[in-house]
Amino acid sequence: MNQAAMFKLSYGLFVLTARDGKKDNGCIINTATQVTSEPNRIAIAVNKTNYTHDMVMKTSAFTVSIISQDADFDLFQHFGFQSGRDVDKFEGFTSCKRSSNGTMVVTSGTNAYISASVVSTMDLGTHTLFIADVTDGDVLTDVSSATYEYYHKNIKPQPQKPEKKNEGKTVWRCKICGYEYVGEELPADFICPLCKHPASDFEKVSL
Ligand code: FE
Repeated sequence: MNQAAMFKLSYGLFVLTARDGKKDNGCIINTATQVTSEPNRIAIAVNKTNYTHDMVMKTSAFTVSIISQDADFDLFQHFGFQSGRDVDKFEGFTSCKRSSNGTMVVTSGTNAYISASVVSTMDLGTHTLFIADVTDGDVLTDVSSATYEYYHKNIKPQPQKPEKKNEGKTVWRCKICGYEYVGEELPADFICPLCKHPASDFEKVSL
């Protein structure tokens, strides 16, 4: 099996939002797709470590805001590299409005949103697959959607060399957010402290 074949699959990028009581939260996901048109259903896969995952599991309602090519890295940092368990991601966040199901829509760096109601879940181990009826949605702009590949090529900062303080050392860099781990070997169970991605998303930086 050539693992590289898996990287040829294309993915979008989305802000997944949910609301539990008075608490709004959101995270970044890369797996959302329409699975049937009659009825109009979408599927999302969400990592169980995300606080938003637990909120969707509990409330069965969510919105997917589709990230567009004019999104900046701040959007990914804001929703992707911190946890709603520690911070209120919507406190002081003004680029949003509420969808008819009560969950937030992110209105900047996005081109559309789809709100949905969960009808089925499947436990995938690290993730849960949610199948949901579409309940609302609208187009926000005509800017093209940002694919996962587009994010890596055009939105994520592209450091050419390890940080100055790490020069001359062996560095493992997170391909998702750029975090640098210094050490000859990266522990197999290492989790990026910034974006929570696993060791498999790190690359050894040649010096
Ligand atoms: Fe990271």
